Amino acid sequence: MHAITYEAPKSLEHALRLLAAAGEKGRVLAGGTDLLIQMRAGVRTPERLIDAKTIPELQVLSFSPHEGLRLGAAVPCYRIVEDPVLCQHYPGLVEAAGLIGSVQIKNRCTVGGNLCNGSPAADTTPALIALGAVCYVASPRGTRTVAVEDFVVSPGRTVLQPDEVLVEFRIPAPPPHTADCYQRFIPRNEMDIAVVGVGAAVTLDGEVCTAARIGLGAVAPTPLFAREASASLVGKPLDDEAIATAAELAQKIARPITDMRGTAEYRLHLVGVLTRRVLKVAAERARAR
Ligand SMILES: Cc1cc2nc3c(=O)[nH]c(=O)nc-3n(C[C@H](O)[C@H](O)[C@H](O)COP(=O)(O)OP(=O)(O)OC[C@H]3O[C@@H](n4cnc5c(N)ncnc54)[C@H](O)[C@@H]3O)c2cc1C
Repeated sequence: MHAITYEAPKSLEHALRLLAAAGEKGRVLAGGTDLLIQMRAGVRTPERLIDAKTIPELQVLSFSPHEGLRLGAAVPCYRIVEDPVLCQHYPGLVEAAGLIGSVQIKNRCTVGGNLCNGSPAADTTPALIALGAVCYVASPRGTRTVAVEDFVVSPGRTVLQPDEVLVEFRIPAPPPHTADCYQRFIPRNEMDIAVVGVGAAVTLDGEVCTAARIGLGAVAPTPLFAREASASLVGKPLDDEAIATAAELAQKIARPITDMRGTAEYRLHLVGVLTRRVLKVAAERARAR
C-alpha cells in the first residue's frame, strides 16, 4: 500500500472542504469493509481518506411517526440491528443489515458504504428501494436528493461526484398495515454475497393491497426497482394469484449473469421464489399491524 493521509473531520462542512481539496485523490472512508480490501488489492488507490464516522451529521438515527426515519450514512449496521424502533417499523431493513458479514463486520460496516460501493449485490439496497428511501447528498454546491434505485449506475460506479458525500437516507413513516421483508439466497449459511436478494414492502386495506414496492439485487448490473411488478399488486387482494403475477413480472426485468455463485437461469428462478416469499411475509406482517 502507498502512503495515505487520514483525516477525521468533526463536521460535514469540514469534510466537504477536505474532499474538495483532495480532488480525485480523496475518498470517504466509512467502515472500510469494502474500501480497505479494494485498496489492498490495488483496485482503488486514494491518497487521502476522509473518515465518515467522525462526522456527526452522518451519525443521525431518528424516527418520528410523521417524518419517518433519518438514517445517517455512517451509522454502523450493529446499531440498526439492535434498534427496537427499527425492528418494529422496518423489519426488512433490519433483516438486510443483519445479513451483512459477521458480528465484527457489522460493528464497522454501514448502509451508506453498502450503497456507495456500488455493488449490484449489496444486501441493504433492495430493502431501501422497497421502502422508497431517498439519499441526501452534500457537496460544496449544496444538497441534492437521489432515489436509492437511481444511485448506482454500473457495477462499482454511483452518481456521486468526487466532492460529494452521502449524508443520510430518509425513509417515509410506514402507514397503518404496512410492512417490509428482505431475503437473499446464498449457497452457505453466512458470510457470502447474495446470489439473489429481494426486498418488498406492502400496505394493506383489509385484504386489498394499496401500495407495494419490490427491490431486486444481484440480477442486473445495478440494483433494480421492479416498478411494473410492484404496480401490478395495487388495487388487488394480496392473494397467491396476485403474488405469482408480481413474481413473473419481477423475473421479466432481471438480467442475471452466470458466475461461480450460480447460473443466469438459476438466478431467474430464484427471483420468482424470493419475490413470492418476501411478498407473503410482508403481507403477514402488514396484517398483524
Ligand atoms: C467478510 C465480509 C463479509 C461481507 N458480507 C457482506 C454481505 O453479506 N452483504 C453485503 O452486502 N456486503 C457484504 N460485505 C461488504 C461490505 O461489508 C458492505 O458493502 C458494507 O456495507 C460496506 O460498508 P462500509 O461502511 O464498510 O463501507 P467502506 O468500505 O468504508 O466504503 C465503501 C465505498 O463507499 C464509499 N463511501 C462510504 N461511505 C460514503 C459516504 N457517506 N459518502 C460517499 N462515499 C462513501 C467509500 O469511499 C467506498 O468507495 C462483506 C465484506 C466483508 C469483508
